[in-house]
Amino acid sequence: MLQKDPFVLDGNVLKINKWNEFSKHVIAGFSTKRGGHSCAPYTSLNLGLHVDDKIEDVLSNRHTLSNIVGFNTSNWVCSNQVHDNKITKVSLNDMGKGVYSLENSIEDSDGLYTFDSNILLTLCFADCVPVYFFSPSYHAIGVAHAGWKGTVKDIAGEMIRLWTRNEKIPHSEIFTAIGPSIGSCCYIVDDRVIENVNKVLVDHPESTYKEVDIGQYSLNLNQLNEKLLLQSGIPKENILISHYCTSCEDELFFSHRRDKGHTGRMMSFIGFKED
Ligand SMILES: [Zn+2]
Repeated sequence: MLQKDPFVLDGNVLKINKWNEFSKHVIAGFSTKRGGHSCAPYTSLNLGLHVDDKIEDVLSNRHTLSNIVGFNTSNWVCSNQVHDNKITKVSLNDMGKGVYSLENSIEDSDGLYTFDSNILLTLCFADCVPVYFFSPSYHAIGVAHAGWKGTVKDIAGEMIRLWTRNEKIPHSEIFTAIGPSIGSCCYIVDDRVIENVNKVLVDHPESTYKEVDIGQYSLNLNQLNEKLLLQSGIPKENILISHYCTSCEDELFFSHRRDKGHTGRMMSFIGFKED
């Protein structure tokens, strides 16, 4: 199953290679926890500045990733993520924000998008779902952070509504990818979460979870985000979905749940690289 995953391991990062069939300029993927400088419990490629790791190690890790993806850290944009559904449109003026310190991060945004080249949009993850957005014909890229809260606030659908209503991009011209996250194999939630799932997904929400004990459910967050993208009007053939579980694959990923909160962060990245 993993061999067919749309996120293809290339050294210490996963890349959405299929999108290079649309444009050789798009660089999109997800880091692993391998190949960095941080010590336990952040061993080793921790890219989150907000987790009590040594700042100089995180900056060194960010520099390592910048060499792998071919974007200087001064071209990155980082956001203060708050498990909500606010999305910010960024431009060349925002480059460098949140990269070297948390203080000037893009404010309280769990989604970013841009039409500009040479910006790398980044968000941090440890189990939550990274959702990527790409319109080759409109030269648009975006990324969203969807934990259970962002998912039931339909941040994926919010990005689609922004792109179709504000930016006039037709649904058929939007391609999406759902990245590595905690799988239903490892993700047990309670009634509070399920009540919100039932509210946000109109068509058969119960197909995304299974009751495993009284008031305890295994939830498939990736599948729920796929169904929310379909609900927002994206054609099924425009959705790629990863099957990696961040909790099961402990050689590759940090996992907030598995590591009981003391762990590092992977980074989603997407950018148009032009010379
Ligand atoms: Zn798992």
